[in-house]
Amino acid sequence: MRILDQVIGHGKIIERLLKTVDQDRLPPSWLFVGAKNQGKKMVALGIAQAILCERSRAACGECGPCRRVANRQSEGLIVIEPEGATIKVETARQIVADLSLAVLGRGRVVVIDDAEKLGAQAGNALLKSVEEPPPRTHFILLTTSRDAVLGTLRSRSQVVRFGSLTDSECATLGREDADDEVCAKAREDFRTVFVSSAHPDFAPLRERVTSRETALLYLRLWLGMARDTWAGHETTVELSFSRLAMIAQKIVRAERDLQGHCDVGLTFENLINECCGDL
Ligand SMILES: [Zn+2]
Repeated sequence: MRILDQVIGHGKIIERLLKTVDQDRLPPSWLFVGAKNQGKKMVALGIAQAILCERSRAACGECGPCRRVANRQSEGLIVIEPEGATIKVETARQIVADLSLAVLGRGRVVVIDDAEKLGAQAGNALLKSVEEPPPRTHFILLTTSRDAVLGTLRSRSQVVRFGSLTDSECATLGREDADDEVCAKAREDFRTVFVSSAHPDFAPLRERVTSRETALLYLRLWLGMARDTWAGHETTVELSFSRLAMIAQKIVRAERDLQGHCDVGLTFENLINECCGDL
């Protein structure tokens, strides 16, 4: 899965970041600033894929390093998320220790989510690494508020501002104000289809999803859920990263099929069979 293909919006930012990767002008550290759940982390992971990809400076999505980043099993990618209210100083020290090891492959990317949760102690432990990372090592810090990030880290990072998504982009993410009842049902069906281990009974779903319009809305909501779960915004679904990546890909294909006027029932049946087949 090429992660950047899964990102909604932020086209200009992605273009600029990819150009920087392509020209090998990466700063030691980027600070992505923007509202929550708008895709900052996905862009960060997509850029990590581009940095680590062995075939293309824009990420191919298919080579070993690309696949490992999508499945979050890459030795070149370190993702730090706060546990509770802070990022612990032990976590920061562990990163520094990990960074002392030699880089395998094309490089190494450290993504720190909610970087404002790095307190003075943890931040200071990281400062030297952020300031002067080991060779081919890059930091991407994510935050909702630039001013809430420690000044010392902020001043050493290149700030990238993420705008809010437009209404239609939010709709594409499956977060528009669709009928609450349809949303709730679609979420429930997502769990039945993709999370439960039994092969789901297709009949009730088929009764609910009859028109092409509802089918497309369903796919959009499902894709939003898969993306949110993958990026860690949706925590009620338990699926592995590799399975989520696969599901997202199949949903995107089903969406294309429906737009290409394939039969609604058949498209859903195929999607479900394909996603359940390898459980
Ligand atoms: Zn690749």
